[in-house]
Amino acid sequence: MTRVIFSTGRAFAFAAFVIGALMLCAQEMPAVHHKHASGEPVGAEKDSLVASFNESRAMEYVKEIVALGPRPIGSANHKKVEDYILRHLKGDAVESDNFVADTREGRFPVRNIIAKFPGTQDGIIVIASHYDTNYPLRNTSYIGANDGASSSALLLEIANQLRGKKRDGYSIWLLWDDAEESMQMPWNSSESLYGVRHIAEKWQSDGTLKRVKAFLLADMIGDSDLNIERDTNSTPWLEDLILQAATSLGFQSHFFARTMAVEDDHLPFIHKGVPCADLIDFNYGYNDVFHHTTQDTVDKLSTKSLKIVGQVILKTVGLLDKR
Ligand SMILES: [Zn+2]
Repeated sequence: MTRVIFSTGRAFAFAAFVIGALMLCAQEMPAVHHKHASGEPVGAEKDSLVASFNESRAMEYVKEIVALGPRPIGSANHKKVEDYILRHLKGDAVESDNFVADTREGRFPVRNIIAKFPGTQDGIIVIASHYDTNYPLRNTSYIGANDGASSSALLLEIANQLRGKKRDGYSIWLLWDDAEESMQMPWNSSESLYGVRHIAEKWQSDGTLKRVKAFLLADMIGDSDLNIERDTNSTPWLEDLILQAATSLGFQSHFFARTMAVEDDHLPFIHKGVPCADLIDFNYGYNDVFHHTTQDTVDKLSTKSLKIVGQVILKTVGLLDKR
């Protein structure tokens, strides 16, 4: 698909955008047609954590985050979204990982936000989303409804589901990571992922990383035409577990029609040996045309997509507990 893009004029402009915008797409492979061998969805979902996920409330959060405006690092709106997330975590065990990122564009304060929900099993499942918006587009009306807001809102709703309940399973740490977006377009591996690179180092040196059983990443998951990619940078058994969760909920048609290598927030953890899965839809609009453009707005999203990804993540957590 990527190669075809270079062959026409219109596509050439688009290719420039794609190359610029992408964090990923390093080696997109031909689409793989999955035959989902394991037959029927398992009808009624008994897992209450899964069933009570409130996608309408998640969508309200998306709209409220987007209403803050563009939220690139170093901006006043970025501070507003930090406060917004923290306000929704009042009473939870919240930690901030603050540091200063030295970038080609200058020095910026960076803040990872972690909410910890303890479980009875020894080990941690991290569920992550970046909450900053694209820096190079900072002076446009770009608001990152899908890219930044959708997954950050999803985590807030997951927090609602975890709050005040006794967890008979692994501890869950929700991570809103910061300064994920590349400082330049095209995507620059050494000028991006500041937040996750920092927290992965920190957790390695304080011994936390050894306890992380899985790192589940959500990114660009609000697209109303939801197609989560199978990512070859992610851990194969964990991807399989996600497909198992999706299949048990009857959502398997939204998963893994395409296979590609995705460069995203999970990379620093992958490099440190943590099992990771990136839940990302990298086809946002025809040929990903809305990605990193001012067209990344709420009208392209659906509550159904938030429900699918929210429920599949929570179901995967349940499968990990039993694994
Ligand atoms: Zn982005």
